[in-house]
Amino acid sequence: MLGKMMHKQLTIGSLIEHAGRFHAGTTVTSVETSGETVHMTWGDIDTNARRLAAALNRLGLEQGARCGTIAWNNRRHLEIYFGVSGGGFVCHTINPRLKAEQLIYIINHAEDQVLFIDTTFVPAVAQLRAQFTEVKHIVVMGPRDADIAAQIDGVLFYDELLAAETGDFDWPDLDENLPSSLCYTSGTTGNPKGVEYTHRTSVLHTLGGNQPDGIGLRARDTVLAVVPMFHVNAWGTPYIAAAVGAKLVLPGPNLDGVSLAKLIDAEKITVALGVPTIWMGLLQGLEETGCTAASLERTIVGGSALPTVMIPTFRDKYGVELVHAWGMTETSPIGTLNQLLQKHSTLDSDAQEKLREGQGRAPYGINLRLVDDAGTILPNDGKTEGNLQICGHWVIDSYFRADDSALTADGWFNTGDVATIDADGYMIIRDRSKDIIKSGGEWISTVELEDIAMSHSDIAQAAAIAAKHPKWDERPVVIAVKRNPSVTEAALLAHYKGKVASWQIPDRVVFVDTLPLGGTGKVLKNKLRESYDEVLLED
Ligand code: ADP
Repeated sequence: MLGKMMHKQLTIGSLIEHAGRFHAGTTVTSVETSGETVHMTWGDIDTNARRLAAALNRLGLEQGARCGTIAWNNRRHLEIYFGVSGGGFVCHTINPRLKAEQLIYIINHAEDQVLFIDTTFVPAVAQLRAQFTEVKHIVVMGPRDADIAAQIDGVLFYDELLAAETGDFDWPDLDENLPSSLCYTSGTTGNPKGVEYTHRTSVLHTLGGNQPDGIGLRARDTVLAVVPMFHVNAWGTPYIAAAVGAKLVLPGPNLDGVSLAKLIDAEKITVALGVPTIWMGLLQGLEETGCTAASLERTIVGGSALPTVMIPTFRDKYGVELVHAWGMTETSPIGTLNQLLQKHSTLDSDAQEKLREGQGRAPYGINLRLVDDAGTILPNDGKTEGNLQICGHWVIDSYFRADDSALTADGWFNTGDVATIDADGYMIIRDRSKDIIKSGGEWISTVELEDIAMSHSDIAQAAAIAAKHPKWDERPVVIAVKRNPSVTEAALLAHYKGKVASWQIPDRVVFVDTLPLGGTGKVLKNKLRESYDEVLLED
């Protein structure tokens, strides 16, 4: 080699260092657990993250020690993201809505040594504490509070820990292949599995995920991270916002439509990210409050299939573009985002809209393929359904503390989703392989049935499940929540006519008051199956 370029490690510390140096005056707004809204800056976040890293060293933590968080989206959680990972420890975000036994399992499996908790979770943690095997320090995210001190022996207070440090801590030049953060999948069956990201995969995800056709944040944006910071690192939003110096708004615990509508107008949000159930709530919140979301340009929607009817509703009523995205905990999470190609600009608006309903295409850094059950690679013709496999710079190799690789012999990760991919690489999720309905040897997509149900103006929410059937093995049943109380089963079934083949029309509709949602806002189909998979046998 005749010349040589610098070789700098890709670290999380370098992201916050950049934000602190070049965007120190840019605002970070945080709705606190108390309900109060505080305005800080990236400069403050950088200083506090440095203080935290110094405090963890003072507590005697060794490099690589896992630090759990049970917290909402707020500024202290943001400081922990950067202070823990940037300081050389591993930030383990925990879903607070898990059942007690899953919380205990995850905290012990991760061997968390420190637990950072929001005040909301003090009673739960006080009760479970004796069962945490490795936790040495519990840090409550706030100032000293005598009541809390009385509930948890030896508890530390975040604000006191930071007050003892100056903030002149230098971010260590860590090896980019060291672990930075840890997140467990929600484990609808069996125990949750941990996915441990490295500094390198996190930074590459930040850069690769934020391409212009990707999340596409800019310094001029005000971004609202509704997606929880315990759900795959809020889809990388905190890292991306730091890298580009965007104004970041963290909404705290209240994610109902009314609170979000008010926050969007008050903070002049331009881009927001979250799961479809959140945006359904926001539509109602906008109507109730009369808020206009005038500043909002686009939302990134993923985590479960976007009901297609939401796209024109947001566009026509509020001028908001919905960008459909797909990913998983195992993929950091960005796998695909849906933006058009240049050649699509000549299509009419209906055809453009149709293309944008799917989950989109892979950004640089990600590769996708379809295989059949025998592992044979299937064509990208937009029609052939197959098991979706993925590989790339920010995709898992093996689960945390697992002996074996999670990959196929030729290095691909099997997503558990069934999809099609067209010749331009546009991917559409047809179903999760464990949800798809197998009726007399033919497959029926629950995603499609749900989308049709939700396009009926009298239906608020719907989930399709496989119900046992004496002749066809499984037949589709739709579990739906009414928007208009007078809607009938016959009316909803009639709505399917002409939209799917007649044998794909559901056998039954069961109306319920609410659908069971998991910790990240997804419908728990396994719960619905437990309750309703025998409804066709009872007839
Ligand atoms: P969990 O398995 O805990 O739900 P993830 O949040 O990692 O964890 O979920 C990943 C799964 O969510 C994907 O495999 C896919 O089935 C589903 N998913 C994510 N985004 C979409 C989307 N845009 N459309 C349909 N399904 C999606």
